[in-house]
Amino acid sequence: MLIDSDLQRHLIKTVADRVIQHTDELVELDQAIGDGDHGLNMKRGLDAVLLDLERLSGMPFDEALKAIGMTLVMKVGGASGPLYGSLFIAFGKSLPATGNRAGVVRAFAAAVEAVKSRGKAQVGQKTMLDVLVPVLSLLQETEEKLPARLRAVAQEAARATIPVRAQRGRASFLGERSVGHMDPGARSSELMICAVADVMEDRT
Ligand code: ADP
Ligand code: MG
Repeated sequence: MLIDSDLQRHLIKTVADRVIQHTDELVELDQAIGDGDHGLNMKRGLDAVLLDLERLSGMPFDEALKAIGMTLVMKVGGASGPLYGSLFIAFGKSLPATGNRAGVVRAFAAAVEAVKSRGKAQVGQKTMLDVLVPVLSLLQETEEKLPARLRAVAQEAARATIPVRAQRGRASFLGERSVGHMDPGARSSELMICAVADVMEDRT
């Protein structure tokens, strides 16, 4: 896929910085329904990505996605490390050689499938999939006004996890007590999608 190294650096840095800037919020969300480490897990993984930014920026985009996925698997830990790792690795593996839109959307679909199968989870169970699946549906439906729509769908989808009872991950141990809190992984997915949307908008 064709993306120049400056844009690739900007994209990776914007996504990583955005999540790192929200470390405390992600910790608080995970304190409410988990063990409180999600923000620090993500920060550890994304700090490692940023340390490798020059090398990642110079790689073909698919290779960079796979390398980011491997770093997340190794550094993030918890449930979210292997899940986000699977997302990025499968995305990279499935990306077409030429940067056509339909191929990129199919690759993102394969990436979301990899998260589902790794976590044995579906949309509606109060996980990161509650954001990733609606974002995929939007990408499959339209290419118009995408940055604004991506932000709106991701924000609404993360918010929509609040009244849901968790059925996967640590939060599921709380049963009904997981109701009334936003899922931390849904929020970190929202942050990443919004960062991508911002970079898309910078280009237009
Ligand atoms: P841990 O739960 O091991 O402490 P984190 O706190 O880093 O790991 O990540 C928790 C997030 O991982 C949850 O908020 C949820 O979004 C996501 N998650 C947990 N289990 C699953 C699963 N089986 N499928 C999809 N996402 C999951
Ligand atoms: Mg946790």
